[in-house]
Amino acid sequence: MKKQLCVLAWAAAGLWPCAQAQDPARALGELLRQIKPGTQSAPATTRLPAANELLQLLSESLERVDQPKEIEIGRQLAAVLLGSKLLHRDLALQTYVNRLGRWISLQSSRPQLPWTFAVLDDPGFNAFAAPGGYVFVTQGLVQRVDEAELAGILAQEITHVTARHHLQALAAKARSGMLTRLLAAQVRPNNAAAATISAQVLALGRDLYASGLGQADEFEADREGVTLAARAGFDPYGLPSVLQQLRAAAPDNPLFTLTLGTHPPPQQRLDQLEAAMGSRLDALSGQASVAIAQRLRMH
Ligand SMILES: [Zn+2]
Repeated sequence: MKKQLCVLAWAAAGLWPCAQAQDPARALGELLRQIKPGTQSAPATTRLPAANELLQLLSESLERVDQPKEIEIGRQLAAVLLGSKLLHRDLALQTYVNRLGRWISLQSSRPQLPWTFAVLDDPGFNAFAAPGGYVFVTQGLVQRVDEAELAGILAQEITHVTARHHLQALAAKARSGMLTRLLAAQVRPNNAAAATISAQVLALGRDLYASGLGQADEFEADREGVTLAARAGFDPYGLPSVLQQLRAAAPDNPLFTLTLGTHPPPQQRLDQLEAAMGSRLDALSGQASVAIAQRLRMH
């Protein structure tokens, strides 16, 4: 109850919930500055040997990837994602999603990560995360959900980050030989290193986001995401409600193809959630639905 009041107060006042929080507009600007090609302040060559080192490290041992390295890998994967999609231009929407995401991330097991949330200008129904705290949702998703549903999706993505699911998937790809082949292809003079290393990150990132995470990771993120959303004061049935929408989506609708192709079937996810949740969270459900457009008008 206290949490719910807190969320209402947060939403009504439009304030950041704690001292760690940042101005979302600045965070977004910072995100762009950090990861958009051509807007980096440091010369690209100062970063690239680190990229090579990080990929090598990832292929050798996941345990040696500490938090700063995890954030750097995430920054590069986020750049891969933003390389193919634009950020949505509506700053009020970006601010809202960033606030919502940061609020939920503060209730997670890793509140100290530099969490950044952004909306991609894409009509599809998708959400992506990258190590270190980067979370993206598409505009096509945001316009089809209410606040509790969006909270459920963000909480699911936050769980992928806190549980280091992407890093584990990348390490598994490395062990399967994919990274070795990519690294082996890098026998070129130093002055060509820039193109080669970014090509490696690009290849790995594209492969990761096209194939998705493992089913067990998705089921875990569903379970933990529902609990996290509830802990942040939102209706725990937000995520199940999204899964019902996905279940109803025509499988050949191109807007849903990627999400459906990279996740277990929605009915299976619902069954797993039901088995895990039972009626445990029923007491927290039943809150009135808040439309995102309504929330934006309040600011
Ligand atoms: Zn997921």
